[in-house]
Amino acid sequence: GATPGHTSPQPGQGAGSIGRRGLILILSSPSGAGKTTLTRAIAQDGGWGLELSISVTTRPRRPSEIEGKHYRFIDREAFDDLRARDDLLEWAEVHGNFYGTPRRPVERVLAEGRDMIFDIDYQGTRQVRSKLSDDVVTVFILPPSMAELRQRLERRAEDSPATIEKRLANARVEIQRWTEYDYVIVNDDLQNAFTSLQGILTAERLKRTRRTGLGAFVDGLLSESEREAGA
Ligand code: 5GP
Repeated sequence: GATPGHTSPQPGQGAGSIGRRGLILILSSPSGAGKTTLTRAIAQDGGWGLELSISVTTRPRRPSEIEGKHYRFIDREAFDDLRARDDLLEWAEVHGNFYGTPRRPVERVLAEGRDMIFDIDYQGTRQVRSKLSDDVVTVFILPPSMAELRQRLERRAEDSPATIEKRLANARVEIQRWTEYDYVIVNDDLQNAFTSLQGILTAERLKRTRRTGLGAFVDGLLSESEREAGA
C-alpha cells in the first residue's frame, strides 16, 4: 500500500517490488498522559495506513465513548468466553476492569502486510511481545509532571473522584515499567509528541530486517551498473 516510509522514490528498477512485513505499534502510559489522543490522531490520519485495534472491556462506557469505536463494551461472562476460546491475543485486569485485544483482526491485518496500533497497558505489552517479538514496536508516553497528569484527569471530568485517585495511584506503578519499552516520549506538547511518534513509525518501517525484496532490488541496481559500465 502507499504508506509513508514505504514507497519513497528509489533509483533503478523494481523498487515497486520492495515490500515489508506488517508491524504492531504499541503505545502505553498512565491514564491521562495523552496516549489515547495520540493513538487516535495517528490512526485517523489515513496517510499512515495504521489500523486501530479495538479492545473489548468490562469497564462501563464513558458518556463520550461510542460502542465499537472506542471499545466493545461487554460483560464479564462474555469476556471469560472470549478468553476460554483463545480469541484474545492478550488480556489484563486494569483498575479493577478487564481489557483484551481480539486476536483475529490482528492476524488479518498483519497477513495483509499492514500495520496496527494498540493502546494497551504494560501487562498486555509483555504478552504481545512474547508472542510476536520481531513485529512489535513499543512506545511509552510520560506526562511532563504528576501535577499535569492530575489536571488532565480532572479536566476530563468523566471519571468519579475515587476513580481518579485510583488511576493516580496506579500511574506510579505503570510509570515504573518505562524501561521495558523501545521508545519514550514525554508528552509536554501534543504536536511535538505526534511528530516524534511519526518519526518512530517512519524509521521502523524502513528497517532492513523488516523489509522484503530488497536483495532483488539491489541485484537489479548492480546489474544496471554493470550494463552501464559495459556500454
Ligand atoms: P481506560 O479505561 O482509561 O480506557 O484504559 C485503562 C488502561 O487500560 C489504559 O492503560 C489502556 O491502555 C489499557 N487498555 C485498554 N485496552 C486494553 C487491552 O485491550 N489490553 C490491555 N492489556 N490493556 C488495555
